[in-house]
Amino acid sequence: MKATERYWNPILETLPREQLQKLQLKKFHSIFKWAYEHSKFYHKLYSDAGIEPGDIRTFEDIRKVPKVEKSMLRAIQGKEPYPYGDILCVPLEQVTEYHQTTGTTGQPVFQADTWQDWEWCAESWAYILYAQGYRNRDRVFLPFGYSTAIAFWQAHYALEKIGCEVIPGGVLNTEARILKMQELRATALMATPTYVLGMADAARRKLGIDPAKDLHIKKITVAGEPGGSIPATKKRMEEAWGVKVYDHIGATEIGAWSFECTYQSGLHVNDALFLVEIEDPDTGELITEPGRRGKMVITAFDRIAQPCIRFDSKDIIQWSPDECQCGRTFRLIKGGVIGRADDITKVKGVLLAPTSIEEVVRSIPELGDEYEVIVAKKGDIDDITLKVELLPGQESKTDLVKTKLTDQLRLRTNLGYNLEFHEYNTLPRYDVKSKRFKDLRHKE
Ligand SMILES: [Zn+2]
Repeated sequence: MKATERYWNPILETLPREQLQKLQLKKFHSIFKWAYEHSKFYHKLYSDAGIEPGDIRTFEDIRKVPKVEKSMLRAIQGKEPYPYGDILCVPLEQVTEYHQTTGTTGQPVFQADTWQDWEWCAESWAYILYAQGYRNRDRVFLPFGYSTAIAFWQAHYALEKIGCEVIPGGVLNTEARILKMQELRATALMATPTYVLGMADAARRKLGIDPAKDLHIKKITVAGEPGGSIPATKKRMEEAWGVKVYDHIGATEIGAWSFECTYQSGLHVNDALFLVEIEDPDTGELITEPGRRGKMVITAFDRIAQPCIRFDSKDIIQWSPDECQCGRTFRLIKGGVIGRADDITKVKGVLLAPTSIEEVVRSIPELGDEYEVIVAKKGDIDDITLKVELLPGQESKTDLVKTKLTDQLRLRTNLGYNLEFHEYNTLPRYDVKSKRFKDLRHKE
């Protein structure tokens, strides 16, 4: 494939690092100046910190710019100009898009976009889809009603921008969606990892359809949960569907900031549209070396209605030591979002990332895809229960699986668990965002 055919933006995606950094500094300066001059919220935040656009000359200067947190965004909204508050940099008349965050906890954050922002959103998603091999021959099935969530709307518009045909599969139930994909010979599918696994299971059990043989799907893009970057979950999805599964990470208030390409070496950060900084959660020190985990602080350069500048995402990520063979100069992160600074909780004094439990459960072939983790207090001691389901026909292997689980969990998380085996298909199923990790300690 010619280089010009491999990249959505052949110039930016292969720009030498030094030039890319120059571009990032220039773009950071522009969005900072824009926000300083047009948003009362940002103007006050920066004035109070004694920093103004003329002070941003180097990357080190960027580190002095105050960060923004989700709680600050929540505190602004509901005020004038209603409902976005004074973070807004444009008159309300210019806002054409309303969306809100889809997180599983807390009041959603509202997101305003202008038409220009919306075109940018589609553009940022076009990088992802093109890198994953989407072309104008594809017919793509989106098995959700998108409602006020942003990701699938963005994907929808980006697919159209590339020239793909889009089938919006909202309203239908899971079986009807599978039959629709079969009838129309859809070539690609986009969903959360949970739903990709759930659809495959429903196809086999309820319709007698083997997704790998009886459908025409050639690739799948996942988003919304960490599964796409958890090797055991990814393997399950790829085996169930017989195709490559590509990950993508984005957020409503930030944008579509990273993507896996067809080489599957990790997730590329879109360095042309975003500035990703990783910092030590305790000291705030900037982390540039691969393999050291830290908190992501991110800036979207070109989104103007409600800019996201040095957003403290609380997502834990790490730079990859690997290089991708695709030729992009965009940096790679390894393992996707490993956890959230808020969710990586201490259990019995040990730091526990829920993604490690998922990795263990999904690597054991006798177990189904679903599981549930409950952390509670038993007296003064933390108590963790892991509920799993044995696949039909595997019931006789309970003891073997119990041993495997105990050993692997001890190895990966350094903790002991109460294991509960449930009948297949009795644990809760989720369509969009799963709530498999329940910490009940603070409610008692
Ligand atoms: Zn690549």
